[in-house]
Amino acid sequence: MSFHPPLRTLMGPGPSDVNPRILSALARPTIGHLDPEFIRLMDETKTLLQYAFQTGNELTLPLSAPGSAGMEAAFVNLIEPGDTVIVCQNGVFGGRMKENVERVGATAVMVIDDWGAAVDIEKVQHAITEYPHATAIAFVHAETSTGVQSDARALCKLAADDGMLSIVDTVTGLAGIEVDVDGWGADAVYSGTQKCLSCVPGLSPLTFSTRAQTRISNRKTPVQSWFLDMNLVMGYWGKGTQRAYHHTAPVNALYAMHEALLILKEEGLHNSWARHQSNHLALKAGLEALGLSLVVKEQDRLPQLNAVSVPPGIDEAAVRKQLLNQYSLEIGAGLGQLAGKVWRIGLMGYASRPSNVRLCVHALEAALINQNLTLDRGAAISAVNKCYEDMQ
Ligand SMILES: *Cc1c(COP(=O)(O)O)cnc(C)c1O
Repeated sequence: MSFHPPLRTLMGPGPSDVNPRILSALARPTIGHLDPEFIRLMDETKTLLQYAFQTGNELTLPLSAPGSAGMEAAFVNLIEPGDTVIVCQNGVFGGRMKENVERVGATAVMVIDDWGAAVDIEKVQHAITEYPHATAIAFVHAETSTGVQSDARALCKLAADDGMLSIVDTVTGLAGIEVDVDGWGADAVYSGTQKCLSCVPGLSPLTFSTRAQTRISNRKTPVQSWFLDMNLVMGYWGKGTQRAYHHTAPVNALYAMHEALLILKEEGLHNSWARHQSNHLALKAGLEALGLSLVVKEQDRLPQLNAVSVPPGIDEAAVRKQLLNQYSLEIGAGLGQLAGKVWRIGLMGYASRPSNVRLCVHALEAALINQNLTLDRGAAISAVNKCYEDMQ
């Protein structure tokens, strides 16, 4: 029997709701990956990605694999065995960066911050002084496990000032908050399709600066991963060059990503960021009216990923279950250190819209009342509505 998924509203840490325009792009006829029309699509996709990342980097492309592959590609290409890398960790994904560094045969010097706090710039500065021979600084711009944003501009500048490469995870950041690759002077920046681009999961947009590209072409050792070796991938994605077969691009997934990027371009980067921010503020107003609080300090909050403290005495899993069963609404559980302590409410891409904020606040109110919390029914929705009115 064919598989027919239920219709859900996806307000977790990803995948986010996919725009129907993207789903219909996905269903268009498959053509050959070396068809001139497909090559035209690849070129356009690259230009659109440069727009999304705000970069003129020639080496900008979508990897044919999810965000995790973008992370791996950054490390296997830029780091060689014996290197030292300063890795900032303030949640789950910094830990994965450490793992990547070590698997390359390099040493990770860890700069650790609390889960829920931003990367501390002073600590990074200190690590640079202590390990001046480090070749790169890696950090997570938008930590999806905690809902924190770190100061990418400042961290990339620290790296550049000390002759180190910067490796930036903005899987959850792209299209939700400012990503300014050239303005930051960042060297390797990767993202994913399933977060604020609201595309189907499975691709990883990636960009390398010319400095990073030089590092890759001058490596002493071959990249350990054949599939992620940028020297080979470049031959497939390079502009103007004769495309050399490397692997078969996921043709339809690229139709989908092209459409997602087109939607972003039509809306405009600044409008997209502003929309994420205003829906975040409305959600926050509703959550506060329900007596709930956000984990992260106001100035470090990601508008697209809201980590909410579970009040004492509330069965957090039962609340999520009720949301899914009665409202077909998915929100995320806590991850790692925050498991059982928080809900993660995503307002990413197409999912970041007022009707979703209202649905989520309404459903949470019902679920919390069901957990015997005494609440003034309807007050939270009124707070959401008032917030939207005030923003007009
Ligand atoms: C989701 C995510 C990833 C991994 O992306 P996948 O598409 O799940 O492989 C990496 N880093 C961060 C910060 C993420 O949120």
